[in-house]
Amino acid sequence: QVAPVADVTSAATHCPYCALQCAMVLNPADPAATGPVSVQPRQFPTNAGGLCQKGWTSSELLRTPDRITTPLLRGADGQLHPASWDQALDTIVVRLARLQAESGPETVAVFGGGGLTNEKAYTLGKFARTVLRTPNIDYNGRFCMSSAAAATNRALGLDRGLPFPLTDLAGADAVMLLGSNLAETMPPSVQHLAPVRARGGLVVMDPRRSRTAALTEDRQGMHLQPVPGTDLAVLLALTHIVIAENLIDSVYLDERTSGFETVRRSVAAWWPERAETVCGVPAAQLRRVARQLAAASPAGGGRGAYLLTGRGVEQSSQGTATVTATINLALVLGLPGRIGSGYGAITGQGNGQGGREHGQKADQLPGYRSITDPAARAHVAAVWGVAPETIPGPGRPAVELLSSLGRPATADQPAGPRALFVHGANVLVSAPNSGRVAGALDRLDLLVVCDFVPSETASRADVVLPVTQWAEEEGTMTSLEGRVIRRRQALPAPGQARSELWILAELGRRLGAQVAFATEPADVFDELARASAGGVADYTGLSHARLDDDEAASGPGFYWPVPAADHPGTPRPFQDRFATPDGRARMVAVNHHAPVDDVRPGAPIYLVTGRVLQHYQSGAQTRRVADLNRIVPEPVVELHPLLASRLGIENGAEVRLRSARGEAVARARWSDDIRPDTVFMPFHFAGTGSVNLLTSDATDPISGMPEFKVCAVDLSPVTDG
Ligand code: SF4
Repeated sequence: QVAPVADVTSAATHCPYCALQCAMVLNPADPAATGPVSVQPRQFPTNAGGLCQKGWTSSELLRTPDRITTPLLRGADGQLHPASWDQALDTIVVRLARLQAESGPETVAVFGGGGLTNEKAYTLGKFARTVLRTPNIDYNGRFCMSSAAAATNRALGLDRGLPFPLTDLAGADAVMLLGSNLAETMPPSVQHLAPVRARGGLVVMDPRRSRTAALTEDRQGMHLQPVPGTDLAVLLALTHIVIAENLIDSVYLDERTSGFETVRRSVAAWWPERAETVCGVPAAQLRRVARQLAAASPAGGGRGAYLLTGRGVEQSSQGTATVTATINLALVLGLPGRIGSGYGAITGQGNGQGGREHGQKADQLPGYRSITDPAARAHVAAVWGVAPETIPGPGRPAVELLSSLGRPATADQPAGPRALFVHGANVLVSAPNSGRVAGALDRLDLLVVCDFVPSETASRADVVLPVTQWAEEEGTMTSLEGRVIRRRQALPAPGQARSELWILAELGRRLGAQVAFATEPADVFDELARASAGGVADYTGLSHARLDDDEAASGPGFYWPVPAADHPGTPRPFQDRFATPDGRARMVAVNHHAPVDDVRPGAPIYLVTGRVLQHYQSGAQTRRVADLNRIVPEPVVELHPLLASRLGIENGAEVRLRSARGEAVARARWSDDIRPDTVFMPFHFAGTGSVNLLTSDATDPISGMPEFKVCAVDLSPVTDG
């Protein structure tokens, strides 16, 4: 299956994994390469010539021994068997037609992914709404960026993860990372923090002394280690202190915001000593951080300050409120919309940013516009060549969608979908309360999975369709800064693997669609650019050719919005006004509540989840890379020696964790980097070591984000064999 070297061409592209989108060049494999192409980093502003271990080893994934190279159909014997494309697609068409005839268009659901190119994400949304005619489409970005997106759209009118170039961070006097472990998730990004660290200006909030939190120790940075689930209380206290000590930027608040008085009243009850009793962070530390941020702000005479959120504070049933409180803090300090200061959310998935802009989200159309906006519906309908009223309305957000699968109708709720398409996601490992998801998948009449490896979800499918991956395709991605970049092909896909662009067009044709589907990525991009015109994420002025020309000329790339072919892009969108109707940032009062699944007798220990350097997302890709799996082959549960000795758990012994939803088993690793009331497990593993067997599927009422980051568990040594 390994492609002959003659089929490999040099390609300047980007890493297949996270949203930093480190730049790399692929060449025919040399003797040292572990895959069919040789990977070398190249200069690009975000990675500045760096790659992490995942990027260096990414070639290996292209020809992993269990790569799916033919369509697979589940036979009467219950096993998946190779099939031709005609057999696989005809099977899908026949079964879909029967299900939709029996139960209506809504009986088909689609689950997309934040790793798909912009072109694929756009086509998937168009396919769901024009061919399947279903509102039931959402994607795994709901688990990633939805809280930040909801809060930022409400406050600033526009959600672009970082509304400034990443390199701007270096000029600040203070950067506060809230629930982000950049040193482990995006190692090359940490170099941009070096000048801030040298000034003693790095502040990290995390219940663990993560690798990033440890970076605060070499100078005079700060690590706040709150009780899991109380990040919002910390933010309310910081805002209280800034206001109480008159460290606010009054001129900025008057000129650029609305709602300050409401927020001022709402934080009045969060004086630091009271907050300390909730979040466990000493009042003196809270005061020191508030004063440090204020001194770094322009109003305080500093070079500037940034507040950056990650999944640690966003994956919560109060995730939107927590990000809102972060933005409120940034606004009282006068940071957003000023060069050298700001608020941003650090996007995780490779195309988590673009993935939420082009229409694979339940409530949105291309251009990052609301699916309920009549003008947006009319515009997109004209591009698609359909009547606006035929575009379905909003669908169910991911957790609700997954739990509704195969559910019979009741007096209170309609029947759930009976068929599911999954593209670029491994929900059986990545969704919260995954035991419940497994039950929902089992209730389906038809599960179709497009993937390039037999992920845990693909292994349960009725039909598996083999697809191309990063180095085998052309397209675009949009990085964590909203910079649109080119993905380029270096080698052909193995066997019969095809692009989702071809698969969706072919399915549309066989299902009798009247809507045309382009299959060339450059053509799809031109169409998505037209569909985005007038939206906040406006790509009108971009094309593959313009992106290529800019890169050839060593240009800086283009940050959306780019509303015209001669527009230079928008690196810092809020300098003159925010994207709200009146141009002012909206401050919204929020308050803290305890986690839905809080600690209690019988489940007295907090469980938090996160990443390790060597693995990515559900691990479906990185667990197949030998060099990475050798370093971290299995999950561990990290716990404090005090907790371990109280529970009789030896370092390295197997531990059973129980929550209200299920059980998991992992090997203990003693660490005094974690609070004694808390344990940590990474989320990259399947089987009995899958932490999402334990996590809560309670969701944020505004964003639909699940409360991945905190639930209550009990621990015991595995002694019962
Ligand atoms: Fe860069 Fe992220 Fe790839 Fe690592 S995984 S090389 S940080 S893009």
